[in-house]
Amino acid sequence: MSPSTQIIYDLIIVGAGPAGTVLAYLLAKAGLRVLILEKAPMPRYKTCGGGITAKTINNIPFDITPVLDKQATGGIVTFGGKLLLKTLLKKPVAWLVMRDEFDYFLSQEAQRAGADLIDGTLVEKIDQQADRVVVYTAAGKFFGSFLAGADGVNSTVAHSLGMLQNREVGTAIEAEIEVDPAALEEQGLFATFDFGATPHGYGWIFPKRDHLSVGVFQASTAKARDIRKSLNKFIDCQPVLNRHRQIDIHGHRIPLGGTFVNLHLGRVFLLGDAANLADPWLGEGLYYAVTSAQIAASVIEALFSQGRMDLSIYTQRINAEIVQQFAYARRLAGIVYQFPRFSSQLISKSPLMQTLIFGSVRGDFTFGTVNRLLLQSMPRIFWQALYGGSHP
Ligand SMILES: Cc1cc2nc3c(=O)[nH]c(=O)nc-3n(C[C@H](O)[C@H](O)[C@H](O)COP(=O)(O)OP(=O)(O)OC[C@H]3O[C@@H](n4cnc5c(N)ncnc54)[C@H](O)[C@@H]3O)c2cc1C
Repeated sequence: MSPSTQIIYDLIIVGAGPAGTVLAYLLAKAGLRVLILEKAPMPRYKTCGGGITAKTINNIPFDITPVLDKQATGGIVTFGGKLLLKTLLKKPVAWLVMRDEFDYFLSQEAQRAGADLIDGTLVEKIDQQADRVVVYTAAGKFFGSFLAGADGVNSTVAHSLGMLQNREVGTAIEAEIEVDPAALEEQGLFATFDFGATPHGYGWIFPKRDHLSVGVFQASTAKARDIRKSLNKFIDCQPVLNRHRQIDIHGHRIPLGGTFVNLHLGRVFLLGDAANLADPWLGEGLYYAVTSAQIAASVIEALFSQGRMDLSIYTQRINAEIVQQFAYARRLAGIVYQFPRFSSQLISKSPLMQTLIFGSVRGDFTFGTVNRLLLQSMPRIFWQALYGGSHP
């Protein structure tokens, strides 16, 4: 499709990640004229573990079965490579996807719903005028009544308008590792977490169809100078990775959500990573990309039906429904990352602790509920850790 100076879109979305494509799907379905501008030609590689939790899948408004790679049916907790827990999960917690396939699938669904997508087109600048937003790209100008910045943690939209100038970010580094078939089988459908892999963070191994996705996340704003060393150390101490064949390493910033800030300015709003919506404890971002898209879609639809343009309600809802929970997630992160060895022991020995942690990832409990239940149940958790307890 070529740029047109004639069309004024109801909404232009910058970025064809999960936040942008789900928002485009929902509003195109609602009959709005929607355009997505994406800098990369789709499908494109995206640095991500590709762990997609049950709560995320429940929030995506269409069936994504065709792009689900594997289901993680079990969890492994190690500390510095030493096995502490290997457990099958009673209810499914997460699936694994390859982000190039997943994001491409979402973008196709958005187009099937009626949205336009122009990929391979970098958005360079935004200009807000009284009655519209002008989006400048190398391929020309585009006009929208509203503009959504769904362009990730390094958001051009946010930069262009001076929004979220002091965002808090952590760092993650990931290796796509080929192992021999025996090692792939040994990992099976288990997802591994190791809170001893790096200071203030953790290492993970996620099983994919034909390889393992291995990474380290540092939930800290400090410069992650040693993260590459942490990844190497993590790989060296995990027996399943001893016989790896090929490593393809990528690093990227991850938002550390939990600060209440304005996420709109005039006709422009931010969502997903661009709005710093990833949890500051495990770095999960896909759920919040999709959830912020759901909230944005309901706000924009309501504004169009009322003939209004005040986006304050969007910021208010994101802060109340998402950022408030991140504040609780920070408390959890604060405890686990300050006492990683002790916390790993508690997680591996207390079935109640496992219920709370796996349950929050699955979506059974909010972080607020986990905080409250942890406080209430500390004596029981310690008892289980000391004397053992039955599986949840
Ligand atoms: C190593 C690593 C592992 C992770 N693992 C997980 C995990 O297992 N589970 C999980 O839930 N989360 C994980 N995350 C976080 C997750 O990847 C993000 O939270 C998620 O991708 C956010 O989605 P989004 O749609 O907001 O942004 P993105 O997925 O970043 O999409 C933004 C899009 O905008 C495009 N874009 C950027 N700038 C421009 C521009 N100027 N013009 C046009 N287009 C532009 C980009 O090309 C991109 O396609 C991980 C992150 C990292 C770094």
